[in-house]
Amino acid sequence: MFTSWLPTSAHLLSRGRAQDQLHAHAAEAARARFGSRVFVRAVVEVSNYCRENCQYCGMRRDNRALDRYRAEFDSLADLLLNHRPASVTDINFQTGEDPVAAREVVLPLLRLLRSETGLGLSVCLGTLSQSLAGELRAAGAQVYIIKFEIADAARYSAFEAPGILDERIAYIRWLAAEGWAVSSGFIAGLPRATIEAELQNLRFAATLPLRGCSVSPFIPGEATPLSDSPVAPVDLTLNCMAAVRLMRPDWVIPAVSALNLAGPGAGYRRGLRTGANLCTINLTPDSVRSDYLLYKRDRFIMNEERILEALAAERLEPSTESLADSLSSAPSLVAA
Ligand code: SF4
Repeated sequence: MFTSWLPTSAHLLSRGRAQDQLHAHAAEAARARFGSRVFVRAVVEVSNYCRENCQYCGMRRDNRALDRYRAEFDSLADLLLNHRPASVTDINFQTGEDPVAAREVVLPLLRLLRSETGLGLSVCLGTLSQSLAGELRAAGAQVYIIKFEIADAARYSAFEAPGILDERIAYIRWLAAEGWAVSSGFIAGLPRATIEAELQNLRFAATLPLRGCSVSPFIPGEATPLSDSPVAPVDLTLNCMAAVRLMRPDWVIPAVSALNLAGPGAGYRRGLRTGANLCTINLTPDSVRSDYLLYKRDRFIMNEERILEALAAERLEPSTESLADSLSSAPSLVAA
């Protein structure tokens, strides 16, 4: 479902009553399309090795102080087959950009879960070779999560975001053409980002062949060149989320766990009030979780109990249909 609605600077800067109205409209748009159901997936952070060097991420390759890990197939297989929370309908495998982990750990896990379970399967593994992406798809993965991060090519390069923006966008378009349901996203509130830069991110997202889009608040990462920069304003992040929802009522929009850091106390639940319709339970094993250093070691971990509490408090309910099944049964509405 496309709308001709596009956000303005007034939307992104709104506070008080105007902001409440913006968020209420976004929540209504989500409820009209998805009802009160919210998808609940689990993420497993399989590897923190990364060949990229994004200035905003603690797992960048120049962070030599970080203990690197690659989780083992056997322990993750047992976790996912025998110990996953009951509300989970989908699994997302996430890594730094580490093709070794994609091939040696994620690929066999996908095959196992496809044969043993009816779970929806997503991957967030960065830019891989077309042949490896094809193997992941053949193994049963349906959703590919790959954020464009920053729409402006010069800023993308200045922040050392992965590879080259044009190549990342070409990869997104190739994935969609290959039949993947692609979800992308961007970072709100990066250092020196103007409101026009945020609007550019939103307008750019609307041009891509996506089924979902995240808005992640910038959190200054430990051991990064941006560690002394301020956290993104949670209100800006929430207004961007509402704007995405109003631009694309049919998209899947996650309530990202970083909302807990940008808006301690109520940030996550406020995300659900802007029309977010996807929650993520972190299932990364305790032994390695603190080394998955997107921002800080002191992470706010969303477990099943916290997510179900947040949903109940917002009068929402976990979907029993998987995200992957929902996307494959709904018509693909691909932007030009
Ligand atoms: S954001 Fe992703 S690609 Fe960039 S350094 Fe971190 S893990 Fe690597």
